[in-house]
Amino acid sequence: MSNKPENLTLITDDGLRLDGRRADEIRPMKIEVGVLSRADGSCYLEWGRNKILVGVFGPREAHPRRSQRADSAVIRYRYNMASFSVEDRARPGPSRRSIEISKVSREAFEPVIMAELFPKTAIDIFVEVLQADAGTRTAAINASSIALADAGIPMKGLITSCAFGKVDGKIVLDLNKEEDNYGEADFPVAMTQDGEITLIQMDGNLTPDEIKQGLELVKKGCKEILEIQQAVLRKKFETPVEEVSEET
Ligand code: UDP
Repeated sequence: MSNKPENLTLITDDGLRLDGRRADEIRPMKIEVGVLSRADGSCYLEWGRNKILVGVFGPREAHPRRSQRADSAVIRYRYNMASFSVEDRARPGPSRRSIEISKVSREAFEPVIMAELFPKTAIDIFVEVLQADAGTRTAAINASSIALADAGIPMKGLITSCAFGKVDGKIVLDLNKEEDNYGEADFPVAMTQDGEITLIQMDGNLTPDEIKQGLELVKKGCKEILEIQQAVLRKKFETPVEEVSEET
């Protein structure tokens, strides 16, 4: 978030944003499932200009052995930005930011992954941000949810994620890059299918009323994303009726 150039208007008088969206609209999302042959589950997701690839491995024996837990699987989440994913080359290797995003994203999944079924194992979620355009942590969580389901990891439900923010004094859903750069606040959220919040972060300042208003927008955004996720998974896993009758 930086100082906005004086002549830059992010929302026009008729309520349209620079990319033509209204305040309550998310960017277009495209999801492909099962794109990596060596991973147990995978997903490629585009959201606006973000491009995210996720590979899930496991449950598999956790190494090193001392990392194992006798009563459950350990969940590991690694968020990484490709050096070519941003305008100024991202320095390879972990950064404070990527370590923080990995931690909060792992925690966003812990309430739904049934880790207790797989003692002494590890479930690895590897996120590669190929192109970043604001909202990569939320995009990566949406993609990871699909990759976990693709890997057949038992979950109580999908996790869905979306941010709201404050731009030109207005509360809007799913910030794009200009809004992220020059807006007043960014507030990423992740939630279960039942609307229980598993990740909440805030950059900038918001009043309690603005947060309330933003959370209503996020609920709407997450509902739309959940429908996209469910449609993709249904398409992947549903068995055509003809195939079943041919085999029997
Ligand atoms: N960004 C960048 N270089 C970096 C980190 C971030 O150019 O080292 C850009 C990138 O487009 C990212 C955006 O800034 O999507 C917003 O970053 P933020 O830390 O808010 O996380 P995000 O919104 O991607 O979850």
